Amino acid sequence: MTPIQALKDYYGYNSFRGNQEDIINSILKGNDTLVLMPTGGGKSICYQIPAIVQPGLTLVISPLIALMKDQVDSLRTNGVEAAFLNSSQSTSEQRFISQEIQKGKIKLLYVAPERLFGGAVPLTEILQSSKLSLIAVDEAHCVSQWGHDFRPEYLKIGKLRKAFPTVPFVALTATADQQTRRDMAEKLGLIKPKWFISSFDRPNITYRVAPKRNSFDRLLEFLEFHQKDTGIVYCLSRKNVEDTAEKLQEAGLSALPYHAGLDRDKRASNQEKFIRDEVKIMVATIAFGMGIDKSNVRFVVHMNMPQNVEGYYQETGRAGRDGLPSDALMFYSTQDVMTLERMLENSDNPEYVEIMKSKLNRMREFCQTSTCRRQYLMNYFSEKMPDPCGNCDICFGKENQQDMTIPSQMLLSAVARLKEAFGLGYINLVLRGSKSSKLQAEHQSLSVYGIGKDRTEDFWKKLGNQLLQEGYLAEAGQKFPTLKLTPMAWEKLKTKEKILLAMDQSISSKNQKSQHE
Ligand code: ADP
Ligand code: ZN
Repeated sequence: MTPIQALKDYYGYNSFRGNQEDIINSILKGNDTLVLMPTGGGKSICYQIPAIVQPGLTLVISPLIALMKDQVDSLRTNGVEAAFLNSSQSTSEQRFISQEIQKGKIKLLYVAPERLFGGAVPLTEILQSSKLSLIAVDEAHCVSQWGHDFRPEYLKIGKLRKAFPTVPFVALTATADQQTRRDMAEKLGLIKPKWFISSFDRPNITYRVAPKRNSFDRLLEFLEFHQKDTGIVYCLSRKNVEDTAEKLQEAGLSALPYHAGLDRDKRASNQEKFIRDEVKIMVATIAFGMGIDKSNVRFVVHMNMPQNVEGYYQETGRAGRDGLPSDALMFYSTQDVMTLERMLENSDNPEYVEIMKSKLNRMREFCQTSTCRRQYLMNYFSEKMPDPCGNCDICFGKENQQDMTIPSQMLLSAVARLKEAFGLGYINLVLRGSKSSKLQAEHQSLSVYGIGKDRTEDFWKKLGNQLLQEGYLAEAGQKFPTLKLTPMAWEKLKTKEKILLAMDQSISSKNQKSQHE
């Protein structure tokens, strides 16, 4: 059978996507092969079709037992003989599978890396007595300490390579920076591997980063633009997940929680409801999503900054697999950066901490960038993107930037005159020359008192928020939020340089509106 025939017969698809066909041919020629393809790109077919068309057995190493079962079930539904071996099975079950393999009845065998050596029925024994034609390593970045998801068990795969020196390997991942790529090939012991690197760009995803203030209200605003849509809201902790899901439910939205602390049945049933569109919003920790094949996810929200760009890209990549316009929104605060830094410090491996800190730093840089978000991401994955994308908050902002120098100077000066001890509401009163009793008498004699009275309260509020968003102002204060000037703001005040701001930029920007008109 030819690969294209297998694609039609077993999957019902008419043509290969991207470089799937070249990858399959490289594997069939017996090359070691490395596949870098974004989530949803169609990696599975790249090793499943060689497994189908070649005689013998293909071993698939995959990190998560839960995913394995799904993959095997779906292969079986398509008429492909597949099985998995893991520690949840009884010895007699494992024996049975082993016999099936020896009879040549199984085309694909899924195992977790920890099951490679040892176990009730030793795998190497099973493999030695069958014809092994290919070894596929899924989520191959897990082998690298440089990656964001290092799993020490993956290092055992190198030993497997030595046990089967003539069997070709294919390693697949959706996420790897330069360093991780090289390390992956080395740790797996690949021999002159052929590299296949697909474009990582997901042009249908709109990227936005918003400051984390009143983030729940802003989430509700955002969700108004996605009323009939399905999406994922990621939170950092289990407690945040619970709280957010509950608040969304109270707001009348269809939302359920998902995190590793829920019992198995609950988790499975919530996930199932999401996949079947019976619930619209899955509020989850990053435990949710790996291996979930749902094409119509319209949005992914991060309530907190993720730990690294790889993770962020993988998670946002779960949106828009069907190619239709989709939204990725992240709430960012320097507070989150500090929390994540502290979490890292709990590790006792200094080298690991070092790597993770530098990744965290790149993530922060992404949030603070004033150039196109997609260009930043593509550059991160070593892909060239010469022009700004026109489909991220930065690009939208550049289109409607306005000269806001004079009012910005007024507002920033007011913050300075008030000794950085007040919030935006109070500053508004001062600028507009309010007679409110809330105003301290001495502030009526400040030079900034009333200088902004010909603008509306709403204008100053928006301007203040924009100055916060663009990093001129920062929030401080323990009991109530106060505003302070950042070094960039002091610099601008001193040099009297122009201040350009995207005044219409908000998370409900024109792109979202036009999609729903
Ligand atoms: P990945 O592992 O890269 O995230 P998958 O292998 O899960 O991606 O594939 C994503 C989706 O794309 C699946 O639903 C798969 O059936 C589908 N797909 C893969 N290849 C093709 C193709 N050539 N034509 C149509 N759909 C495809
Ligand atoms: Zn852009």
